[in-house]
Amino acid sequence: MRRLGIMGGTFDPVHYGHLVGAEGARHDLKLEKVIFIPAGRPPNKPHSRITEPWLRYRMTGLAVASNPFFEVSSIEVERTGPSYTINTVQAISRLYPGAQIYFITGSDALVDIHTWKGIEYLLTICRFVAAARPGYRVDELWERLDSLIGDLRRNIICMEVPALAISSTDIRQRVREGRPIKYLLPEPVEDFIKKNQLYRQ
Ligand code: NAP
Repeated sequence: MRRLGIMGGTFDPVHYGHLVGAEGARHDLKLEKVIFIPAGRPPNKPHSRITEPWLRYRMTGLAVASNPFFEVSSIEVERTGPSYTINTVQAISRLYPGAQIYFITGSDALVDIHTWKGIEYLLTICRFVAAARPGYRVDELWERLDSLIGDLRRNIICMEVPALAISSTDIRQRVREGRPIKYLLPEPVEDFIKKNQLYRQ
């Protein structure tokens, strides 16, 4: 059976924590490839100020270009309306019939998983990989998920990613404050941020 990873996130901006996490999941779960899918309009952040979707898509493309097992998809950026994960996983399943799909995302993003559209069905058509920052209390996440989704929690696995000490929030703040972001994200992404004057305010 084909095994595919979908790396879901806002990627504002994409950084080495995301890349290391995706590569770790690819190796550990024997995934054929990992498709990075920048969220077009994250349903959980209707009023947040996030960078324009196509700019985040282009940064993600630059970041994954050097890994033959990674690709980027504009499926959510092109879709109108909120970027519901269920629609994305269904679309990818249609492209790869019969494949086992792993949806990889941040463990923090899963704390309100019970509010996600069609979550019960979603957890039957794909498995989730929760990428956790160092020091993350995984036991607390399991307790919360047990109470929110019961048995379906079996379809979620957790993976600690030390490189997730890097965070997009910190990178944005560093740019705002004029501090360095070198070595936190691939150089082409750093250049893109500078050239397009992102995160200055
Ligand atoms: P977020 O709130 O921006 O991020 C929550 C935390 O998870 C942050 O600490 C973030 O760190 C981390 N994170 C996000 N994506 C990650 C990844 N792929 N690998 C490692 N860490 C990651 O979460 P989000 O980006 O909006 O949502 C994550 C995914 O869940 C997206 O694909 C989104 O579309 C999906 N989602 C779907 C629904 C729904 O269908 N109803 C609802 C909510 C979210 P960084 O800031 O450093 O990335």
